[in-house]
Amino acid sequence: MSKWKEAIVTRIEQRSPTVRSFWLELPDRERLEFRPGQFLTLDLPISDRRRDRWRSYSIASAPNGGNQAELCVVHLPGGKGSTYLFEEATVGTQLLTKEPGGVFTLPERPLDYDVVMVCTGTGIAPFRSMLQERLDRETRRFHLIFGCRRPEDLLYRDELEELARRHPHFTYTATLSREMPQDKPPFEVLSGYVHQVYERDYATPREDVRFYLCGWSQMVDEARDRLLKLGYSEQQVILELYG
Ligand SMILES: Cc1cc2nc3c(=O)[nH]c(=O)nc-3n(C[C@H](O)[C@H](O)[C@H](O)COP(=O)(O)OP(=O)(O)OC[C@H]3O[C@@H](n4cnc5c(N)ncnc54)[C@H](O)[C@@H]3O)c2cc1C
Repeated sequence: MSKWKEAIVTRIEQRSPTVRSFWLELPDRERLEFRPGQFLTLDLPISDRRRDRWRSYSIASAPNGGNQAELCVVHLPGGKGSTYLFEEATVGTQLLTKEPGGVFTLPERPLDYDVVMVCTGTGIAPFRSMLQERLDRETRRFHLIFGCRRPEDLLYRDELEELARRHPHFTYTATLSREMPQDKPPFEVLSGYVHQVYERDYATPREDVRFYLCGWSQMVDEARDRLLKLGYSEQQVILELYG
């Protein structure tokens, strides 16, 4: 049996000036089973060489009993896969996907530690899925530290604001490196980069915390090094590298 399954684009939505959400439906099943934090690997028609066509995208939605998943993709100028998705894929386009994969997930048992999620850009995708699924049933603290350039790049802003309002054990901190918002958002926004936030809030190492880092290597590698330097162990720092 082929490991590649048909996936149909059912909806596309602009999320920020450079990011779009793509909803994929897997018509061969009623229910798409996955764990928040997992990704889909697509075979995109962008090369004759098989391996050059594969691009992975974290699932940004939580399992909801249906057969669709939302992917949240940034358009990289000159990037073959993302340019295909932005310029050629439309509602109805048929793609191929592998089954959901990856181990960047929370344990299924109730958490006995706090979770600090650190991301930039579309690195928010797996965390959105985890937060949607877990906030209601966990008592430990979740802290999302999300870095972007400008206010309009704050993906899922309204939704995250709402989650923070509803769940006292969820804290949302945004960092903006280029431009601060004109309004005063109901969550903390700092000028600069993600690193200053966990270095401020988690300066004293504790056993009962795990850091989940997601995004491009520049941010993820630096955050990992800084956390280890603060005195956290390798087991407390869990990574998903986009490239
Ligand atoms: C497990 C996993 C999950 C992923 N999930 C997502 C996701 O949810 N959303 C998403 O948008 N992408 C995600 N990616 C990245 C995605 O797979 C592609 O790499 C990305 O879309 C670029 O592909 P491309 O074909 O457009 O660019 P390519 O033609 O592959 O070329 C891009 C080149 O630029 C570099 N580069 C790419 N982007 C950046 C950047 N932002 N900053 C710096 N350098 C960069 C790459 O390393 C590469 O060398 C994920 C990757 C992995 C491995």
